[in-house]
Amino acid sequence: MTPLWDTYLRPKTLAEALQAMLTAPKPLAPLAGGTDLLLDLQQGRHPPVRTLLDVTSVAEMTRLERRGDQLYIGAAVPVARLTRDPLVVAHARALTEACALIAGPQVRNVATLGGNVAHALPAADGTIALLALGAEAEVASLEGSRWVPLRELFLGPGRSALHPERELLVGFSLPLLEGNDASCFRRVMRPQGVALPILNCAVWLVRRGDEVDDIRIAIGPADAVPFRATQAEECLRGQPLTDTTVQQATQALLEQARFRTSPRRASADYRRHLVIFLFHDTLRIAWERATSPPS
Ligand SMILES: Cc1cc2nc3c(=O)[nH]c(=O)nc-3n(C[C@H](O)[C@H](O)[C@H](O)COP(=O)(O)OP(=O)(O)OC[C@H]3O[C@@H](n4cnc5c(N)ncnc54)[C@H](O)[C@@H]3O)c2cc1C
Repeated sequence: MTPLWDTYLRPKTLAEALQAMLTAPKPLAPLAGGTDLLLDLQQGRHPPVRTLLDVTSVAEMTRLERRGDQLYIGAAVPVARLTRDPLVVAHARALTEACALIAGPQVRNVATLGGNVAHALPAADGTIALLALGAEAEVASLEGSRWVPLRELFLGPGRSALHPERELLVGFSLPLLEGNDASCFRRVMRPQGVALPILNCAVWLVRRGDEVDDIRIAIGPADAVPFRATQAEECLRGQPLTDTTVQQATQALLEQARFRTSPRRASADYRRHLVIFLFHDTLRIAWERATSPPS
């Protein structure tokens, strides 16, 4: 069998990783858990590489910590850790729930959040949760590091805006919860399935009495890139959560989303039908989780 690569590098720091990107034989691809990349290389969906740059020992990418009023999650943190880390459970429940549903335990032990995002699939569970949680991503190159809103990382299905031979995803930053906000992630999946969902949904909201003070809604796959239902958010922001406002938001969501048919998972029509129930369920749970301070 022809080897899938001929140079394998395992840098320990971000500076070493970026330097290796400059000097290693090309083509090169960053490798994290390999649960997407190795299959793609083996099955010809990814162009051949000479160098694999394993980022799982890069110190900056394996941190998971509070930084001021933000939660920092390194790109190379395995999703299994995100299902049980107390900070993540307390402040990013939608992410915990999404990560717990990714594949089975063996895959979750090695699959990373950065790999989930960098693969750029519109229904990737971790990505959809991060989008609703208002995450920003740290992107590094030899020119320096920059923070970008998560949405700017995606160009199309499976196409990320990262330069594969010059840029690395270092980590994600999410605002910590403040007391009257909460999040939820739910998905619809074939019972026997272990890969991507038929449909998923994440909601983060701030509740003030009977009103939705602020809200973010993410759904996958509902466009060529991970989708924020911004028009539905507009219908609910500053409004009481009633049958009428939820109905208006649902209508706005259906008008903005661009569902597609995927041969092995679901038709666009089926997704349009399902999303109504999935959205209502996820919204209701997030609403009930958000404590309402006394007025
Ligand atoms: C059986 C099975 C079931 C699955 N089920 C699900 C599921 O239910 N839900 C779901 O969302 N996904 C699922 N997946 C997909 C996959 O496990 C996830 O997307 C996983 O999070 C990918 O992470 P990884 O670390 O394995 O990425 P890798 O495969 O190592 O990399 C993926 C891509 O990201 C790039 N990359 C990785 N890290 C970086 C970085 N730090 N900077 C820049 N680029 C980087 C790589 O070059 C590659 O292009 C499943 C996969 C398998 C095999």
